[in-house]
Amino acid sequence: MSNRIILLGAPGSGKGTQARQLAGEWGVPQIATGDMLREAAAQGSPLGLEAKRHMDSGALVPDGVVIGLVAERLGRPDAKAGFVLDGFPRTVTQAEALDRLLGEQGLPLERVVFLDVSREELLRRLTGRRVCRQCGTAYHLVSAPPRTADRCDLCQGDLYQRADDAPAAVARRLDVYEKQTAPLLAYYERRGLLAAVRGEGAMDGVTAGIRKAVRGAGAA
Ligand code: AMP
Repeated sequence: MSNRIILLGAPGSGKGTQARQLAGEWGVPQIATGDMLREAAAQGSPLGLEAKRHMDSGALVPDGVVIGLVAERLGRPDAKAGFVLDGFPRTVTQAEALDRLLGEQGLPLERVVFLDVSREELLRRLTGRRVCRQCGTAYHLVSAPPRTADRCDLCQGDLYQRADDAPAAVARRLDVYEKQTAPLLAYYERRGLLAAVRGEGAMDGVTAGIRKAVRGAGAA
């Protein structure tokens, strides 16, 4: 099974949910820069507080900060077996830095899977999203509500709305995605790594589509 994978997609495309599922199946870490940055912000470190300012407004955190975090994370022993990158890279500068990092380790990327979701559906998902403060599981007020209001089904943690899921920040994030992240599709297409999977419909069907796209990379 091929297991050095990037999940690429707009905010709300389901990257986090799918990355968590597949990383679990493959026994490799899910490396989610948004989660890492939110954790740093919650700890109140200078880096975390600087990141939070950018995140709350829907802007990207500076490349240098995020590349540093990912370089450190990829250097840990568990990432030698592979990884599912979720939310990184988000700019061409980050993609180039990742190529260099992996090139140094002789562990090139195997597949970049683009989760394709319409803008209308992204807006619907993001504004209704609620996330568990404790374990990070995502719910949707209408299409995937928790059994008890404001409580996580899995760990009973509090559910909250991310500051950047408020309507003004959502609009900004989608614009940032179009301008800064969408050019990565051409970047990875040129390298023969890109596969597109339709990210709408039942979650299990999307997961199956990603598995198939990854197997299509020719890995055992
Ligand atoms: P996410 O949880 O992936 O939607 O990320 C939430 C926010 O964290 C983004 O809107 C950015 O502000 C920041 N962020 C996450 N990953 C990156 C990245 N690779 N580069 C820059 N900012 C990032």
